[in-house]
Amino acid sequence: MAQLQDKLYKYAPHFLQNSLVSIYNILAYRGRNSGKYHEFLKHYKANKNLSLQELKAIQSKKYTAFIKYAITNSKYYSNTLSKLDSPENIENIRLLPIVNKELIRQNISDIYTIKKSEGSVAKTGGTTGKSLEVVYLLDDSRERHAILDYFRHNFGYRLGKKTAWFSGKNLLTPKDIRKNRFWKTDYIYNVRYYSTFHIHSKYLKYYIENLITFKPEYFVGFPSTMYEIAKYGMHYNIVFPAGIIKAIFPTAETITTEIRTVLETYFKTKVYNQYASSEGSPFIIECEQGNLHLELQSGVFEVLDNQDNPCTNGRLVVTPFNTKGTPLIRYDIGDQIELDEPTAVCPCGNNNPLVKHILGRISDYIYSEEKGKINLGNISNCLKGVKGVIRFQIQQHHINALLVLLEKDDKTFTNKDQDVFLKNLKDRVGNRIKITLKFTDNIPVEKSGKYRLIKNTIKDEIVEQ
Ligand SMILES: [Zn+2]
Repeated sequence: MAQLQDKLYKYAPHFLQNSLVSIYNILAYRGRNSGKYHEFLKHYKANKNLSLQELKAIQSKKYTAFIKYAITNSKYYSNTLSKLDSPENIENIRLLPIVNKELIRQNISDIYTIKKSEGSVAKTGGTTGKSLEVVYLLDDSRERHAILDYFRHNFGYRLGKKTAWFSGKNLLTPKDIRKNRFWKTDYIYNVRYYSTFHIHSKYLKYYIENLITFKPEYFVGFPSTMYEIAKYGMHYNIVFPAGIIKAIFPTAETITTEIRTVLETYFKTKVYNQYASSEGSPFIIECEQGNLHLELQSGVFEVLDNQDNPCTNGRLVVTPFNTKGTPLIRYDIGDQIELDEPTAVCPCGNNNPLVKHILGRISDYIYSEEKGKINLGNISNCLKGVKGVIRFQIQQHHINALLVLLEKDDKTFTNKDQDVFLKNLKDRVGNRIKITLKFTDNIPVEKSGKYRLIKNTIKDEIVEQ
């Protein structure tokens, strides 16, 4: 929201703030769900059961059109691609250079094919703090929303169904916090936005009580926030009624097995994951069978090893078709995935190839000279057999030292829990790295509202042996 609106919002009473959130959403949805949106939504629904061959034919055709568009309209790609031999042929994709976020950032003005004022702008965060501004053609942005809606519609979701949203928008005022009110409600679309900036044990009770009375059918947003709420509820034996939540749709963060199990157990529902990114990755969506599918109609996915050769478990390099405003061609997005067997078929009827795991940010790891890289999933497993940890964060600012911040519940956390936790951690990072444990009553979230389990500020200096 613009500055004046920000001020107006800040001093308005609660009910008016709710209305302002509604007005903001009406405008946003009006833009997003117009133009070709409905055509796209129909298209994806109609194509749900195409054969793999048909999907690949569509992918190949869209690829050709996308590469031609980029060469014609983007100065950067005209320079880097036009001299290659038939770059628009998907068979030749490996001849095209791989780009990464830093390269895109440095050349961004030559990459844009339209002015910012002509499209919609998305800012990507970034663990390194440097953000990237990508511009979408309005219809590309509508197609992305249509794909997301197509995915959620598989589980009964529609705009207007009661939804609890856990997002990075900070909508609360000091008065809200004094009143233990950690949400704003859009009564037109039936969405309640819960703050992800106030996930603290002294407030979580109010979140749960409010969720139980609000009775949302769907949860959307940062899984780490939902996870903290669920763990708090389990810990204090606050029963969350069955049959309320139809599905949980996490966004933006990596889901570990631990997070998924806790959410499904506490809220008594299923989690359906999807992978996309604000800079415009093609989509990976989970089906009703719980399998992850690459959506080939949204782009090309390559999984590459460190020598850039195709493999089944490696870096994800993407060519998303709906990034015509800021074309991304063979973009190394910084995430790791593991593909399933190419012959694997899903009983859901969708023939898009299957993904075994989305392993998440390659950058989310701790590095130990003794043990190598320890990823997010392994770090989160340090809580096995440990009671009374509200949450923790591991920071690495030095190759031989880790700082562990830990929020504990004084009533249940014992010396034994501390020992088990430290032993679990040492099993993973080794005994030579120095571990400093610091208790705190509030681990701050990032500016984006996301909570990070791992903060590694030295990864650029790590040279693997
Ligand atoms: Zn499936």
